[in-house]
Amino acid sequence: MKAATILQPKQIEVQELPIPGTAPSELLVRVMASGICGTDVHIFQGEYLGSYPIIPGHEFAGVVEQVGSAVTRFKIGDRVAIEPNLPCDNCVNCLNNRQNFCLNWQAVGVTRPGGMSQYVSVPEKAVFDIGELPFEQGAFMEPLSCVLHGLERLDLAVASKVLLLGAGPIGLLLLQGLRLNGAAEVLVVDKNPDRAALAQSLGADRSLTNLDEIERDAYDAVVDATGAVAVMGRTLDFARPGGKVLLFGVPPAGQTMSIEAFPIFHKGLTILSSYTSLRNSYQALDLLNSKSIRVDKLISHRLPLEEFQRGIEFIEKGSELVYKVMILPNR
Ligand SMILES: [Zn+2]
Ligand SMILES: [Zn+2]
Repeated sequence: MKAATILQPKQIEVQELPIPGTAPSELLVRVMASGICGTDVHIFQGEYLGSYPIIPGHEFAGVVEQVGSAVTRFKIGDRVAIEPNLPCDNCVNCLNNRQNFCLNWQAVGVTRPGGMSQYVSVPEKAVFDIGELPFEQGAFMEPLSCVLHGLERLDLAVASKVLLLGAGPIGLLLLQGLRLNGAAEVLVVDKNPDRAALAQSLGADRSLTNLDEIERDAYDAVVDATGAVAVMGRTLDFARPGGKVLLFGVPPAGQTMSIEAFPIFHKGLTILSSYTSLRNSYQALDLLNSKSIRVDKLISHRLPLEEFQRGIEFIEKGSELVYKVMILPNR
């Protein structure tokens, strides 16, 4: 089989490797669609957890090709998506229902081989049945589950006025989720006019391209989906007194955010973050299957495995019309 391996930071090779075996509790999945995530870019750049060499890819869907002897929920031919985080279920955080902070955390595509490959073996507990959902949409189960965890953290009051900063793939999922959670008004800001326009077609009331045009002290909730520290540092300005701020975007490690401390006190702000997901995969699939959340417009590129590096470079450059880049390893 072919697999795209990151040998070390900034070095990718598409290799010919044996198809992996399956332990009794594992399944072998033939990968049909595998989304490139910002995390893959960070792994490529050498800025994230994870060890090298690694076959990345943690947002993927495919077909069950083989089942281990202890597998109970799946049979060959089932259509599935993968929840990449593998908590140990036996540490103090797991035993307190904080599996996203597992002390022995492993993840498909980060610490063990992932979906930028024609085949991958994964533990049964990481696998979810997607039914008739198209594979490319099933590959959104993981990013959407992270978004749903963020929305649970935000706990938006019905009829809230929301400011959303950033209209990349994650911002556009957040936008739809905010709507489902009863936002009365959503303003989306993205410096790229095309992205801002797409946000309007997916449910934003208004869009802007310039932070300086946003009304200050006005929003019940401000959500950052840029991960850019310069933008994150501005979020507090726009929240109303008593409002909430959710810092959802992943900033680069090692950068400092500059904020004035006094307004946090004076405006009585609630500042939240969100780390991965917490058992949100079924919710994500239900929303995708019911088309309550639409992802078809979020896919901008479909590439073969051989062009994985090109896909990474598209995202690194952040050029206008790049949203989700899908790798199709078995097309
Ligand atoms: Zn991801
Ligand atoms: Zn654990």
